[in-house]
This record gives sequence, C-alpha cells and structure tokens, in this order.
Amino acid sequence: MRVLLPLPLADAYDYSVPEGMEVTAGHFVVVPLGRRETLGVVWGEGSGEVAEAKLRDIVGILPALPMAEPLRRFVDWVSAYTLAPPGAVLRMAMSAPSALEAPKTELVYRPVAAASDDTLKMTAARRRVLEQLKEGPALSAAELAHLAGVGTSVIKTMTSAGLLEAVERVVRRRFPQPDGTREGHTLSPDQKVAADSLVEKVKAHAFSATLLDGVPGSGKTEVYFEAIAAALAIGRQALVLLPEIALTAQWLRRFEDRFGAAPAAWHSGLTSLERRETWRGIAEGRVGVVVGARSALFLPFADLGLIVVDEEHDGSFKQDDGVSYNARDMAVVRARLMAAPIVLASATPSLETVANVAAGRYGSQHLPARPGERRLATMAAIDLRREPPDRGRWLAPRVVKAMGEVLAAGEQTLLFLNRRGYAPFTLCRGCGRGLECPQCSAWLVEHRFRRTLVCHHCGYSEPPARSCKHCGAVDQFVACGPGVERLAEEALELFPEARTELFTSDSLMNRNAASEAIDRMEKGEIDILIGTQMAAKGHHFPKLTLVVVVDADLGLNGGDLRAAERTFQLLYQVAGRAGREDRPGRALIQTHMPEHPVMQALVSADRDRFVSAELADRAVAKMPPYGRLASLIISGPDAAAVDNVCAAIARHAPHQTGLSVLGPSPAPLALLRGRHRRRFLLKAPRDVAVQPLLRSWLAQIGLPGSVRLQIDVDPYSFM
Ligand code: ADP
Ligand code: ZN
Repeated sequence: MRVLLPLPLADAYDYSVPEGMEVTAGHFVVVPLGRRETLGVVWGEGSGEVAEAKLRDIVGILPALPMAEPLRRFVDWVSAYTLAPPGAVLRMAMSAPSALEAPKTELVYRPVAAASDDTLKMTAARRRVLEQLKEGPALSAAELAHLAGVGTSVIKTMTSAGLLEAVERVVRRRFPQPDGTREGHTLSPDQKVAADSLVEKVKAHAFSATLLDGVPGSGKTEVYFEAIAAALAIGRQALVLLPEIALTAQWLRRFEDRFGAAPAAWHSGLTSLERRETWRGIAEGRVGVVVGARSALFLPFADLGLIVVDEEHDGSFKQDDGVSYNARDMAVVRARLMAAPIVLASATPSLETVANVAAGRYGSQHLPARPGERRLATMAAIDLRREPPDRGRWLAPRVVKAMGEVLAAGEQTLLFLNRRGYAPFTLCRGCGRGLECPQCSAWLVEHRFRRTLVCHHCGYSEPPARSCKHCGAVDQFVACGPGVERLAEEALELFPEARTELFTSDSLMNRNAASEAIDRMEKGEIDILIGTQMAAKGHHFPKLTLVVVVDADLGLNGGDLRAAERTFQLLYQVAGRAGREDRPGRALIQTHMPEHPVMQALVSADRDRFVSAELADRAVAKMPPYGRLASLIISGPDAAAVDNVCAAIARHAPHQTGLSVLGPSPAPLALLRGRHRRRFLLKAPRDVAVQPLLRSWLAQIGLPGSVRLQIDVDPYSFM
C-alpha cells in the first residue's frame, strides 16, 4: 500500500500489509520510518517500485474514520497546483492528531428490563432513578444522580442489585445543532432573488460558484444565511470561511440569533481538546456548520453541501509561508470535488473573481442597495498639499472640525491608519541615519506604549536607547511619520474630553480583548476609535458617522501588481463603516494624490468604473487575471551561495513564446531574518499551465543545504 506521511517528502512511500490486517485507502495508519514510527494516511495501492521483500509492514490502524476520497483528492490537487510536497499539504489536513487516537470512554447506566417490576428492591430514590431513564438515553452516574436528586452510591447499589447495568460509551462533545427551519429577517425583494437562487443551488447538490456582490451593509450575510439554512434542511454541512480578524464574537452571536445555536468555530485560538472534539464532530457529521479561517478548508467534512467565502477579496486568504496557497481559490476546488456550491461574498470582489464572472465561469447575484433607507457614506478627498495639517500634526483642519461636530452630536469617529506603533521609523539628527533591524532590510518601528523598537518582519525588538550607535549623539532621535499610537496622542490633545481607544493587534493582544473593544464601540462607550485594518472589517458600529482615512496613499507606494486594487478595496471597506444605522455617514480621505484613479473612484463612488479601468490595464499588461504569475524566492545566510543558485536558475530558464522570466533581483526585503533573498518572476499567458514548466525547470537545479527555494504560484506578496 502507498502511505502518505505528513512530512515535506517528495512522494508517498510503499508499505506491506501484515497478515490479517484489513487496510483500505484513507485509513490513518502507523508506519515505521527509519528508526521511529510515524502517522500516515493510506493513499492507494502500492507503486510496485520497491521489491516486495524489502517493504516494511504497516504497524497498525488508528481507530479514526478514514480520510474520505474527496479530501484525499483535494490534498493531491493543492499539492499539484502549489508545487508543495503532498505530505506538507496532508499535514494541514491532519491538524488535530489527537482526534485520531482512540476516543475516551465513560460508563453509562441503563435499566435492566425485567428488573423494573421487582417491587421488593424498590425505594423512592431508586424509582426516581429509573424514572430518569425511562425514555432518555443512558446516563453517566454523575448525570443520573444529579437529575434524580440522589447520591452516586444509589446508582452503584442499584447496579449490584441488578436493577441497572453499566455499559461503556465513547465520550463525545455534544454540538447544539443550528436550526435551519428558523425564520430569518424578512428579506428585501433583491435579497429574496439572491437567496432563492443560492437555495436552488444548494438543493441541486452540484458544483457551482456564485459571486454575491453588494455594498457593505446591503445584507449579503442575511442572504448567505438562507443558503446555510437550506443546507442544514437537507442534512448537509456548511463551511463559512472568514478572514481571521473578521471571525469575532459578534459574527458568532449574529449566527446564533439566526439559527438558535452557535456554529463550530475553527481558528488558531482553540485548545487542543476543542480541536479534537470539533474535528471528530465534523468527520462524524455531528457538526452542521463550521466557521473558520483558511485552515478550515482542510477539515474532514462528512457531507459538505455548501461553502461560503466571505470577504473573498481579502488578502489574508493567501498563505505565504509553508504551503503557498490561496484559500479562496482552493475553496472553489474543494467545492468542485465535493459537488457542492460555493458562494463568494464581497462588496469589492477581487479582479480574479470579476473576470471569472465575466467569462461565465462563475454566476453572480447583486444586491444594489441597503435594505430600508440607509445610504452609503459620502466620501470626500482632502488634498493634503492644499490643506496641510498644522506643523507636527497629521490631521487636516477640515478633519479636526468634522471630528468636533461628530463629538458634539454624540456620534463616533474612526481614524484609520494602517500602521502599527508610534512612528514608522526613527532618525538620528546627529548623523541622519535611521534605526534598522540587524537581521532584515527594514526599519525598526517605535512602539511607545510598550517602550520598545520592533521589527514588523521578524519580531526582533530592542529597548529604545538614548545615544546613537553610529555617531554617539545623545537624545537626538526623532520619530518620523505617524503610526496609530502617535495619532492617538494627537486625538487626545485635540479632544481631551473624548473617550479615545486604540484598536490594533498590539493593543488588543487576543480575540477576547478585541471582542470587548468592539462591544464597547457598539454600545457607544468610545468616541474616537483609532485603528489599523483590524478595525476595517465587517463590524457594525451604529453610532459611527465619521471615518477618516489618515494616509490614503500608504498602500499605493509599494507599487506591486495589486496596489491600486487593494487600496481601493481597503478604503472602500473602511469608508463603508460609516453611517450604518439611520444616521448618514461621511468619509474623509487624506491624500497627496486626489487625482489618482483610486481616489477618484472612491469619491465618485464608482466602483465599477474603477474595476473596468483596472481590468483593462491588466489585460494590456497580460497580468492576472489575464496572465499567470509564479515567483521563486531564493534565500540563504550566505549571499554568494544564494547568487550561485540564482545563476543556475537563470541559465536553465525556460524559453517559450509568451513566457518571460524576470530576475534574479534582490527582493524588496533583501535581508529577512538574516537570510539574503533574491526573486524571480515567471509570467505566462493564461492558457499555459505554469506547474509543469516550473517542475522541469527546477528539477535541474541542485540546492546546497543552506539555500532555500520557495515557489509561490499566483503570488500576492512581492516582498
Ligand atoms: P453585509 O453582509 O452586506 O455587510 P449584512 O447582512 O451584515 O450586510 O446586513 C447589514 C445589517 O442590516 C445587519 O445589521 C443586518 O442584520 C441588517 N439586515 C440585513 N438584511 C435585513 C433585512 N432583510 N431586514 C432587516 N435587517 C436586515
Ligand atoms: Zn527584522
């Protein structure tokens, strides 16, 4: 038998099956590997490449449900597409190893049928115990004693008297079932059309992909809730993928209000016990709805009938380290392999998805307006060249005035700046040099509240010093540019009476702290919220009427392929936070480039024009979604060794019409964690599959142990 191990090996290994062992594909097994034993999954019949006599035996089969065929095919598919070793992908599908072990058991008690007439042995207490067991399931001694109001010793004596018998039962966490028959909100006519169409697709039990497109607050969530209800009604499971930071207590509460029970959440904050129980519940079909970040895609669903990817354009669906995959794209593959529909929801769909709709590969449903009278925020650009902030400040006078009005009206302001810390870099006035990370080509960012300088790329930190290590000047450091902490300082100076709070991953270290801050904001206990993109996603703040984008140009400076697209999506989302309930909202966008197409599109609220212009540019440049990209990142501690490998890669580069290979060039982050980095970019027409090209190209390259080669198909990061 072929057994795939959850290790980054090139292929699966053959093993023999000992006499008397029944093994089929999908079984989780223990096999010898070198001198140790390891877990693996039976992947199919042996390859026959190794002589029968040389094969080693499978040691044992784990008492877990076998991995279903669609999931095994998915693992193969992801591996073939991303060029990651199949075992590295399998590892993501085995993220709860303890769920594979024999489940814990407990003793439960049930009545012995004939014994109940035995009036001689009956007491009032014993009767109450039997009463509890009359219709319900067998119960543990503790449960039974509690329900009947007796001591556990009564249960024991009843058992020895032959009135009860003890049986062993697997301990299972009970998952309350979301109820698909409960009524949701009365949908608007547009919502109804969209929901009906999705419900039909769920009932069809076949693959389809649909874009659910509508401005923030247009009711997309309510619509896909209907599709989830439909999946539950026919007894199938549903998976909702959310960007990690959108996966909040608020979303879960809303789901619970709609369905009467919470979904199973799958994210990095689960305890190992929770992981194990949830994993099993999903495999055994006892969990109806799972909501999770991208890793939930690899869970062992028993019968998946619907996938929803909310905020489908979000960059966090792309994983860059380890296996480089885009969970949104792979979710489409997973849906196809499970013959299930997938819904991609967004107010600002990715250009990839828009192109797929235009080409007829995906369907689409559009929600044109917010239900009721709610209006989208009005957006205005503030030209910082003509209306500069006061010296040493970052907020333009018009913004300050608007904040004052909002405060006086008892409403809320969000100051959005996608920059953690106090200032993005720190300069010595003595020698003019900035403070750099010793292991990365990046500035150290001052975090004033934590009193430290931090590298946002590798996590290196050092305490702030008074003297410059280059020129020795004392107390000559100046903070350059604003970060959210500096903005909070400014807000506090301008409006000392206002309740001001920071919303960033530094100030809110965990999920609970973030949820509490969101609650305070919802209840109106915060006047001015200052946040990074954590604050931009999916929250509903009823009294938020002013959103200020402090530096709209920030994302455009990097200049990568998606800079404009991403900036537009982010700012549109942020601005969409304003004016949710019955209050009109406005967004003020501070920029040095009010004439830039992104700013123009925001101010004129013309998303579609922006999208078509951007798509046209991409088509001309033959860039995604009209072309394919793959990057190679070569890195190592020794620059010369890295350059040698790059030279070999360049020598063997494929030549083919329409194909171009750019590089090697130093990566923008030329040094990361002490490793020198170079990049190649392969650009190919859309109808060329880049995987076989890459495979045969890179097969010719020998890698010294210290040099790492990372392949990123469909790259999102160009750092
Ligand atoms: P989106 O997902 O497009 O941002 P939501 O589904 O979150 O929009 O809806 C925004 C708000 O409007 C939510 O508070 C939601 O409960 C409410 N809402 C949506 N649809 C309806 C409806 N048909 N009736 C009443 N309230 C609705
Ligand atoms: Zn660093």
